[in-house]
Amino acid sequence: MSNFIVLVKQVPDVSQITDNAFDPDTGTLIRTRLASVINELDTQALAFANRMRQLAGDSSAKIVALTMGPPMAEEVLRYGLSRCADTVVLLTDRSLGGADTVATANPLAFSIRKIVEELFNGDNNYCVVTGMQSVDGDTAQVPPQIAEELNLPCITYVTDCRFANGRFEFTRIISGGSQIVAPRRLPAVITVAKYEYPLFATFAATRRANKTKVIAWAGSDINATLIGVKGSKTSVIRVFPPGKSSRKCQHLPDVKSLAAVLVDSIKSAKGAASADRQIARYVLPAKRKDKFDRSFEGTAKEVDDFKVLAEKLRELGITDVSRIDDQAKEKILASSGDHFHKNALDDMLAGLQLTEPAYKGDVWVVAEHRAGIIHPATFELVGKARELADSLETKVGVVIAGHQLISLPQQLIAGGADNVYVIDDPILAEFDPIAHRKVVADVISAYWPQIVLYAATPQGRMLAPLVSYKVGCGLTADCTGLDIRDTSRKGQVAILLQTRPALGGNVMATICTKNSRSQMATARPGVMKRLPTDPSRKGAVINHKVNLTKDDISLEIIKTELGAGRVNFEADCIVSGGKGMQNRDNYEKLLGELCQSLRTRLNVPVERGASRAAVEQGFTERIHQVGQTGTAVGPKLYIAIGISGAIQHMIGVANTETIIAINSDPIAPIFKQCDYYVVGSAEDVVPQLVGALQEGLGG
Ligand SMILES: Cc1cc2nc3c(=O)[nH]c(=O)nc-3n(C[C@H](O)[C@H](O)[C@H](O)COP(=O)(O)OP(=O)(O)OC[C@H]3O[C@@H](n4cnc5c(N)ncnc54)[C@H](O)[C@@H]3O)c2cc1C
Repeated sequence: MSNFIVLVKQVPDVSQITDNAFDPDTGTLIRTRLASVINELDTQALAFANRMRQLAGDSSAKIVALTMGPPMAEEVLRYGLSRCADTVVLLTDRSLGGADTVATANPLAFSIRKIVEELFNGDNNYCVVTGMQSVDGDTAQVPPQIAEELNLPCITYVTDCRFANGRFEFTRIISGGSQIVAPRRLPAVITVAKYEYPLFATFAATRRANKTKVIAWAGSDINATLIGVKGSKTSVIRVFPPGKSSRKCQHLPDVKSLAAVLVDSIKSAKGAASADRQIARYVLPAKRKDKFDRSFEGTAKEVDDFKVLAEKLRELGITDVSRIDDQAKEKILASSGDHFHKNALDDMLAGLQLTEPAYKGDVWVVAEHRAGIIHPATFELVGKARELADSLETKVGVVIAGHQLISLPQQLIAGGADNVYVIDDPILAEFDPIAHRKVVADVISAYWPQIVLYAATPQGRMLAPLVSYKVGCGLTADCTGLDIRDTSRKGQVAILLQTRPALGGNVMATICTKNSRSQMATARPGVMKRLPTDPSRKGAVINHKVNLTKDDISLEIIKTELGAGRVNFEADCIVSGGKGMQNRDNYEKLLGELCQSLRTRLNVPVERGASRAAVEQGFTERIHQVGQTGTAVGPKLYIAIGISGAIQHMIGVANTETIIAINSDPIAPIFKQCDYYVVGSAEDVVPQLVGALQEGLGG
């Protein structure tokens, strides 16, 4: 039957961050001050591979754990040996350091080839199993990029597996629901999003783990083509602490105060959630009033340096920097203090002569849709693309691939697109990663836009790494900020700065693309703003033909479960229940009574929501799910009861005016992401709150 290669990674323990882990000057995290642990999802991947081996009933199948990292990463391999791995491989070499996801996926893929050849004796019947993402990178890009390098089917966000009809079938998370799929061929890459049956180390296995020899390979053993900083297609240009949450995070001592806050939140609600960041719109250098204006540099220090330089040039009466002599340079250096040294001055003077953008072409969005409905995140990206394209004085293009798309291109034009590139084919009727990758990569290679944006939904985070790796471009995951800036000193004008949270949200990183024809990013749903629909907008629909056959389909879709029915998520108040509601009866009864008393007391529409865990527990139907793969909501008041505050849930409520949490755990993460909270069990707090609202407490 099949063998297994499980990818494991050593990561900093971001759950145990102490104050001394932060640099007091910069506020950023010092990684070496954190303990190193195995990435939690990789422990689940090990357990998952072990389960697959059991399901297939093949005790001769081998599990090989593979990691890439420094010599001390051997610890995670010993962890693997003490659980279920038979053999472990450590890929370690200084030349591999500083890699982005492309230069991580590439050597791992080459190592997988070597494992198959040498440890599986060329037997191609295997699965690569890995955690969906690591807590340090948080990108979820490496596994699909490995699949692309090896030309394998890839199934992401997997939560369960069964063995039926002589093959593996996987349950995975998709936008708005879940799906059961089977790869049409092996080998395949599987990423595990959740598997809650951990393996424990036995005494005998631990002894064996300590004795087993780790196979160590260096870079020269695998001959990878993209490694280290040189092989990377993105670079981090700045790391900084995340801005303080604008939420109040205020503890309420009793239910009476809670009732008062509820009533007040609705009364004083402004209706327009979360103010936009007010930053100056980027203007191309050639269009700036002052030709020495470099206020759009990548970092504040660079802006400052250019400001000082511009002042000095004006003082010296220099208008043409291409003809500046050494004497003038000396004068500038002497009078500008220690702002910059000679080499930097030369770079800046060269930068001032640049007016042409480093990248050419339009700004594109790859659309996501299902059953004739475009995903709201696509419209948000079109809104962002419009802003970027207007700054860059270029056009907004949207790629939409599918079958019988009818009015969808027109909807995209009404949402802000200039050109819609349509790829219509029956093979594309359902989303298949490989088939969609083929057509999206094809249309990008035909037109070469300068920017390509994808939604950071499960589908976008699967498709984007495949496409970007295929066309040889860098990709940044899960961006929350996208801005056009110059890095004139490095000879780059009008580049896309891609800002995203990293290390479990403990730091923010700004990244830019290098060695690529297009700058690519996935952007977090619910963060960018869509434009008001304008049905009178005009645009062009361009049909793009790609030859597809049934062989391009990589997955068989066995069953799709999506939310059905209607829910009024436009309501002013949404009350959501999580796994902490304990059971369906509690969810129905407690939420039902609270919603009713809020309707009566506040006189506003009130709707019920749920976390994904509550839906999975069967407390309510999937249509009520709020979050990354549910619905993003933005009510005046959001009440979360028995919800822990996982990022995938909180993304979906980011645009809410007031968030209130009720949770029995005094250190529930949601308390740091809400405005007011009460510590207490749902069973105690909710009935008291209903009583208080009925009595008219709270003003
Ligand atoms: C790709 C992907 C997409 C996802 N999309 C979504 C999404 O769209 N939406 C979403 O919600 N999640 C999503 N998730 C899942 C998410 O990561 C969390 O697992 C989920 O949000 C947890 O739900 P929860 O807070 O209800 O459960 P838990 O995390 O189990 O938290 C339960 C909480 O209830 C509290 N509690 C327990 N008993 C009581 C009581 N008696 N009274 C009060 N409080 C109590 C506990 O202290 C705990 O804080 C996604 C995950 C992945 C990997």
